[in-house]
Amino acid sequence: MSSVTDFVNLNISNIPDKIIAEYIWIGGSGLDIRSKARTLSGAFDNPQKLPKWNYDGSSTGQAHGNDTEVILYPQAIFKDPFRRGNNILVLCDAYNPTGDPVYTNKRYDAAKVFNHPDVVAQLPWFGLEQEYTLMEKDTKWPLGWPQGGFPRPQGPYYCGVGAEKVVGRGIVDAHYKACLYAGTNIGGVNAEVMPGQWEFQIGPSIGIAAADELWVARYILERVAEIAGVIISFDPKPIAVSLLLENTSSVSFSLTLFSNTFGTLFTYIQQGDWNGAGGHTNYSTKSMREDGGYEAIQKAIEKLGLRHEAHIARYGEGNERRLTGHHETADINTFTWGVAKRGVSARVGRDTAKEGKGYFEDRRPGSNMDPYVVTSMVAETTILWKP
Ligand code: ADP
Ligand code: MN
Ligand code: MN
Ligand code: MN
Repeated sequence: MSSVTDFVNLNISNIPDKIIAEYIWIGGSGLDIRSKARTLSGAFDNPQKLPKWNYDGSSTGQAHGNDTEVILYPQAIFKDPFRRGNNILVLCDAYNPTGDPVYTNKRYDAAKVFNHPDVVAQLPWFGLEQEYTLMEKDTKWPLGWPQGGFPRPQGPYYCGVGAEKVVGRGIVDAHYKACLYAGTNIGGVNAEVMPGQWEFQIGPSIGIAAADELWVARYILERVAEIAGVIISFDPKPIAVSLLLENTSSVSFSLTLFSNTFGTLFTYIQQGDWNGAGGHTNYSTKSMREDGGYEAIQKAIEKLGLRHEAHIARYGEGNERRLTGHHETADINTFTWGVAKRGVSARVGRDTAKEGKGYFEDRRPGSNMDPYVVTSMVAETTILWKP
């Protein structure tokens, strides 16, 4: 008995009637995840039976003034892969003492959509793809990249194997198994196009459960990365290399300008051109999965197109840096769709087109999107909205 790990692994399951519950919630930025632990007596499988709890909202940027208490309402229970045994993770949403949801609580409105009888009847399934980038802790530069420099151009990294192609597989695999252990519906993982970038998928999961599971999977990822001493970036365009040529056309030609332009081009070639990170949202309803579902898919895509701007506005901060029309994205200002195409806003898979039923993919959400917002908007627009 000599290391901290020995005590971390201390078995507490023989202490009668006591478990540790880690309460998890979304902090003031809408993307930061917070958590704190408490001892509970008994065994729990129903979140409604767990006690509410509270925290100091002034310390998370979620409350001002005299009354800064924010109340946590338990909404979903998962097994705790870190403490194991009967210990649990408790996903919560947050409310003011008056009972109103705090502004970062997007679950509240999402639950209204998913509890609507017309939405319930359509049994919406979601498959959420979460792309993210591993960053070196001190430099905040992608893991495995040369210090202050750039790796060789994209190509060999996507689903790559080998030390010069992928970095961080241990973190990715630890996270994968921890998510399975916790009881999420994690569907798979893969290395992405930009080196240091990875993806996992949640689903298909039904209704609001998809977003609950994605938030818990994000929490588990942060915890695994914390152990590994690595930072997770959910930035939709972590490495943007700008080609500053637009401003030059109206300016008269000069030698300085020429050399500047040439210099920019030269740096650009050196720095390369890197993929962004998305939060592709795969979606189907009962009607879409049944025979003849292709018609329902077309109608849904058409409705999404009509509300393109409203959706884009809530699909992630900084997503305009990602949706350029390059790197397997569609331009942010236009809604497009296609079968088996990746440079579109919405993609219908080849199998779905062939079978005339199935699902489609909304490729617009960025990696930092709030899945409560995106999934409920997709359901609201495609099921409830009558244009
Ligand atoms: P991509 O080819 O875009 O990388 P992925 O395999 O990463 O696709 O993700 C596809 C997602 O779609 C998975 O999470 C999968 O569970 C989900 N999915 C499969 N069938 C359906 C369906 N009928 N409705 C909704 N989502 C689905
Ligand atoms: Mn994918
Ligand atoms: Mn991907
Ligand atoms: Mn995808």
